[in-house]
Amino acid sequence: MLDVRVLTLFPDMFPGTLGASIPGNAMGKGLWSLECVNIRDFATDKHKAVDDLPFGGGPGMVMKPDVIDMAIEHGKAKSGKVVYLSPRGKTFDQNMAKEFAQADGLTLLCGRYEGIDQRVIDKWEMVEVSVGDFVLSGGEPAVQVMLDAIIRLLPGALGDATSLDDESFEDGLLEYSQYTRPQIWQDRKVPDVLLSGHHANIEAWRLEERKRITKERRPDMWEMYSQKQG
Ligand code: SAH
Repeated sequence: MLDVRVLTLFPDMFPGTLGASIPGNAMGKGLWSLECVNIRDFATDKHKAVDDLPFGGGPGMVMKPDVIDMAIEHGKAKSGKVVYLSPRGKTFDQNMAKEFAQADGLTLLCGRYEGIDQRVIDKWEMVEVSVGDFVLSGGEPAVQVMLDAIIRLLPGALGDATSLDDESFEDGLLEYSQYTRPQIWQDRKVPDVLLSGHHANIEAWRLEERKRITKERRPDMWEMYSQKQG
C-alpha cells in the first residue's frame, strides 16, 4: 500500500485524473491511498495568508515558509522525504517512477505563485522534481502526472502486468506501432507480418520498428541504446 499525502492550496483538484481508470481502480483495490492537506489550514493570521511579497523585489508572491513548515509537520509521522514539484527539479522519468513505486509513503508539495521560500526547502531537504522544461501555474497537474505514472507500476494495478514489459522506455526504446481491427481501414492495411501468426517474425518486426522510431524521434535515447548494444 502506497500512502500518498499531497500538500496543496487546491484540494478540490484531487483526486482529479487519479480518480478514474487505472489509478482510480488501483485506489479502489487498496493499492494506494490519498490524503490531501490544505496548506491554507495552517495559515496563522486573520486573513489566512499563505504568501507574501518577495524580498529583493520583483513580480508575484512567494509562499511563506512558516505555513508550509506547519503543513509538513502535521503529517510528518507518515512521510519520508518531501518531494517539491518544481521546474528547477530533476526531470521526472520512468526510472524515477519505478523508484517512487517502491516507497511506502510519499509526501508531495505543490507550489503556486512564484514558488516557495527557499529556507523551508532547505530545512526539509526536499527532493525537487520537475515534470518537464515548461512552467505550470501550480504543482497540482504535475503531481497527478507523476502519481499516474507511479501508480500503474504498483503490483496489481494493471490487468495484465506483462503489458509493462515492452512499453516505451522499458529498455531504452520507444514502443512499436500498434494495430487493431478492422484489417483494412480507409484503404490502409495492417502490416502483413502481424497477420502471419509467425511469432518470431512478429517479435523481430516489432524490435525493428522500435529502433526505427527511436532513432528518428529520440536521437538522445538512440545514442544511449547503441552504446549499450556495443
Ligand atoms: N517562478 C518559478 C515558477 C513557479 S510556477 C520559476 O520560474 O521557476 C508555480 C508552481 O508550479 C511551482 O512552485 C511548482 O510547484 C509548479 N510547477 C511549475 N512548473 C512545474 C514543472 N515543470 N514541474 C513541476 N512543477 C511545476
